[in-house]
Amino acid sequence: MKTIGIIGSGISGLSAAAVLALNGQKVVVFEKNDQLGGRMRQFEANGFTFDMGPSWYWMPDVFERFYKQFGYSGSDFYELKKLDPGFQMITADGETVKIPAGWDELLALFEQIETGAADKLKAFMREAEYKYEVGVKKLIYQPGLSVLELINADTISGVFRLQIFSSFSKHVRRYFKNDTLIALMEFPVLFLGAMPKNTPALYSLMNYAGLKQGTFYPMGGFKKVIDAMVQISREHGVEFNTAEGVDAIKKESNSKISLTTHARSIQLDGLIASADYQHVESKLLQQKDRNYTE
Ligand SMILES: Cc1cc2nc3c(=O)[nH]c(=O)nc-3n(C[C@H](O)[C@H](O)[C@H](O)COP(=O)(O)OP(=O)(O)OC[C@H]3O[C@@H](n4cnc5c(N)ncnc54)[C@H](O)[C@@H]3O)c2cc1C
Repeated sequence: MKTIGIIGSGISGLSAAAVLALNGQKVVVFEKNDQLGGRMRQFEANGFTFDMGPSWYWMPDVFERFYKQFGYSGSDFYELKKLDPGFQMITADGETVKIPAGWDELLALFEQIETGAADKLKAFMREAEYKYEVGVKKLIYQPGLSVLELINADTISGVFRLQIFSSFSKHVRRYFKNDTLIALMEFPVLFLGAMPKNTPALYSLMNYAGLKQGTFYPMGGFKKVIDAMVQISREHGVEFNTAEGVDAIKKESNSKISLTTHARSIQLDGLIASADYQHVESKLLQQKDRNYTE
């Protein structure tokens, strides 16, 4: 059994902790806040509860896949409600467009905004679904150790359909002319933190997630997801230390890693830093171990 440290208890740190513990490792989580959950934590005041970060639960199959490894389903922890409308969009002219959860209603809305757009949406989504099947169900679960992982029968045979090298912005405009529809179709990729013109058309898989699968909400708020992951982690022996931020990471000559907090110094066999990259790189790693300059 190896001892693996995890910096941060956001959804990424928690999922890593649970999976490592399931695979027989001793896992110790360090969280600088006094609450677990990172950007998915909650804030309560005057009888109201606020989600501090996410409010769109997309790709429920990704969550289900996680729970299934532990013999659970999301419904063991919270009720997942499909929102209808999924969301609404307010255009620059102040017009409100409600995005229906039902596929037939969505097609009708597109047709109402632009003649012929319903058929275009069907064609767009066929491609988007293919990209979702290959991209989300196959590629993202690779360990990420080599670029060769991305080269397999699906990616070779589908290299043109996956549209890794063409622009998302141009892709959308090939299907739709109306500004409202273009804005609606372009917005999901903003979640990736990039502009549509700089994003590969592969990411129309996000439209499939948001418009075809739909937008969900875990009743009780996103902290329900965190509570579920913490419960699962604890059931597998993960140790949590809150209000204990990591101050420094050092690689030792015996191939161990030492990690320092205000309370102690601990030696580990492995470490996952799930806090923001810039913070870990420039504040926690020693100068010689950094990949980038400031
Ligand atoms: C306002 C907002 C809205 C969002 N909306 C959505 C949405 O609708 N749908 C969606 O899917 N995503 C949404 N996101 C994105 C989503 O919340 C994040 O991608 C996700 O929560 C990030 O999880 P993480 O584990 O990678 O990082 P984080 O949640 O940031 O976790 C990192 C943890 O590391 C801790 N930490 C940092 N430094 C140290 C240290 N030195 N020592 C110990 N601990 C440390 C932090 O306190 C934190 O708890 C939203 C984000 C925000 C901010």
